[in-house]
Amino acid sequence: MIAKFFRAAFGKPASLGSLQPRTIPAKRYGLHRTSLSPASLWVTEQLQLAGFSAFVVGGALRDLIVGMTPKDFDVVTDATPQEIHALFKRSRIIGRRFQLVHVMKGDIIEVSTFRRAVTQGPDAPASDERGRIISDNVFGTQSEDALRRDFTVNALYYDPSTEIILDYVGGVRDIENRLLRVIGDPSLRFREDPVRMLRAVRLSAKLDFQIDEAARVPIASMAHLLNHVPASRIFDEMLKLLLSGHAQEGINRLRAEGLHHGILPMLDRVLEQPMGQKFVELALLNTDLRIREGKSVSPAFLFATLFWHDLISAWHDVQLQSDSSVSALYEAMDQVMDDLTEKLAIPRRFEIGMKEIWGLQPRFELRSGHKPVRLLAHPRFRAGYDFLLLRCESGEVDMELGRWWEQFQVSSESERKQMLVQTASPHRRKRRKRSVSSQVKQ
Ligand code: ATP
Ligand code: MG
Repeated sequence: MIAKFFRAAFGKPASLGSLQPRTIPAKRYGLHRTSLSPASLWVTEQLQLAGFSAFVVGGALRDLIVGMTPKDFDVVTDATPQEIHALFKRSRIIGRRFQLVHVMKGDIIEVSTFRRAVTQGPDAPASDERGRIISDNVFGTQSEDALRRDFTVNALYYDPSTEIILDYVGGVRDIENRLLRVIGDPSLRFREDPVRMLRAVRLSAKLDFQIDEAARVPIASMAHLLNHVPASRIFDEMLKLLLSGHAQEGINRLRAEGLHHGILPMLDRVLEQPMGQKFVELALLNTDLRIREGKSVSPAFLFATLFWHDLISAWHDVQLQSDSSVSALYEAMDQVMDDLTEKLAIPRRFEIGMKEIWGLQPRFELRSGHKPVRLLAHPRFRAGYDFLLLRCESGEVDMELGRWWEQFQVSSESERKQMLVQTASPHRRKRRKRSVSSQVKQ
């Protein structure tokens, strides 16, 4: 009833296009409706009960078939955003350019309407002079929806009521061959949306898939198109890469394809020095392990590690014309952040976190008086200390400093006093040798 009313009021998406899908029993891949999250199963069932078609689509299905645990489950349907919203009490329509619906059911399930990519004709979305699509909010059929997706492995639909996978573009075969293949002409699809190149690298690292040669070859000559993508989208995509649990491989592949030039040109500077490379490798390895163990990772910490060695050299340069090492550090931070945010719109809260972690580092070298106890009470102490340990592990700072702080944290008040006395004098002698600021001068 509700569905009928909304269809009359807002128009029904066009009927199914001519392209016929291959239907594949999902159990062949060990997939059952119980493999879905309870929320996504409930949402698809409710839509189907109301007379709509509804499927789990995209990354979740791909991940389930390869045996990985999906990050989230997206649902796609022939119901319009208004119809979806009317069906679920706890839902809201989001997005201006392309409307979709967030249904709250413990988790948030993103429900979108089948849409098509229109590149020509009166419905054609606006594109800029380089062919980048600016807006593409046009409803379509399921087969059209499949064709507007980026990679074949991302264009599979699973119907939990029949436990059948619908495959319009050979995605299941590509999963079997561990191949990331662009739907349609790769150059055209990359021009429409250059972020797809970053997605290719991210997904190939995450899934350990090869990027199909037809897609990989044009990337080198098209990488520059990323310069014209809004810095906020680049940031979102980079964050996904870094938090994927495969950050190390992702960064390696990004560099191998030359895709980092337009986004993080400073990465070359950092990774070309052995110490910088070691530090970033350790940081990414740590991050990947934490993510795989289900632990949280702070983006501010991660970005602070990526650009630490860039900061050290900027700090060194500023210090040559400055009397104060601390004010030189803050000036260098501003320089590094200015450089970075031109390409990558790092949100303000992360920028503050990065600067706090960086700013704490020289304070770890002050091991006398009240300073260590004060540092312990700093709200960012833990992050600063973890950062220090990475510096120790990478060989930048003497391990002894990390061990001292490890001990200091768990010591009683009297033991702490003892540690301060013991380190007060030798520390002063050693400090000159160890401090970050003096180290870069050597
Ligand atoms: P992840 O595991 O990281 O979530 P994903 O493939 O699910 O990977 P999402 O960003 O969640 O990535 O996108 C969901 C789906 O939307 C994709 O599987 C793909 O079908 C489609 N999609 C996302 N981004 C694009 C794009 N830039 N161009 C075309 N289709 C896209
Ligand atoms: Mg996803």
